[in-house]
Amino acid sequence: MGLIDTHAHLADKSLVCQLPDVLDRACKAGVTQMICVAVDAETAGQAIAIAEANKMVWASVGIHPNYAHEAAPDHWPRIVEHTNHPRVCALGETGLDLHWDDCPFEVQQANFERHWELSRRTDLPLIIHMRDCEREMLTALEKQAALKAPLRGVMHSFAGSTETAEQCLAHGLYISFAGMLTYKKSDELRKTAKTIPLDRLLVETDCPYLTPEPNRSRRPNEPAFVAHTARCLAETIGISTKELGEITTENAKRLFWRMVDK
Ligand SMILES: [Zn+2]
Repeated sequence: MGLIDTHAHLADKSLVCQLPDVLDRACKAGVTQMICVAVDAETAGQAIAIAEANKMVWASVGIHPNYAHEAAPDHWPRIVEHTNHPRVCALGETGLDLHWDDCPFEVQQANFERHWELSRRTDLPLIIHMRDCEREMLTALEKQAALKAPLRGVMHSFAGSTETAEQCLAHGLYISFAGMLTYKKSDELRKTAKTIPLDRLLVETDCPYLTPEPNRSRRPNEPAFVAHTARCLAETIGISTKELGEITTENAKRLFWRMVDK
């Protein structure tokens, strides 16, 4: 079975200190490729270094909404420069977050907008974080859509409503599910998952966070565990895990077009 973990924070200290083992376990679980996602300029550089050293890893570079206020003036130009790197396949993670109030919302909005502008210039897709701000996110997406350029990207670790998913899909975005999908209380999310067209589905771990069942609360998350989320998603929509792996792999390669087999 082949799976792509489209969202892994491999530069996190819990994972980077045991990276060869983490990648080995991922291979054994059927993971063929993964995207190492940055949250700021420092982790962007680390993501690229990890991708250069490991051919199953690709990098996404960008500034997370919760860190946007901490970015120094030279950080954004560094992100822009990184987009020329052949192992960089996406921008982010970026987006909006009203759960934490570390970063003023206007700063988050401006940060999100500059990622969209960079996406239009480079054709690289955005990896979008949305937490407790579905209405604000849809407003931000409408503003971008009004510029008449296609919106390329994925709503990562999706936990919103079916209606929000529908609107994101209408804007051309993909929907990615993480470990939350496997939790007992996530019936609503599983109902939403059933409504997503197969050609817009992706899977991810968001590791080291959100460990899927059956390992939840037992272990920090890692790319190998994307297999549990994939199995749950396949069962939810009524197809085989193998088929789900093929579909989501094809989708990932279409969206993250720089990600080609070497
Ligand atoms: Zn993340």
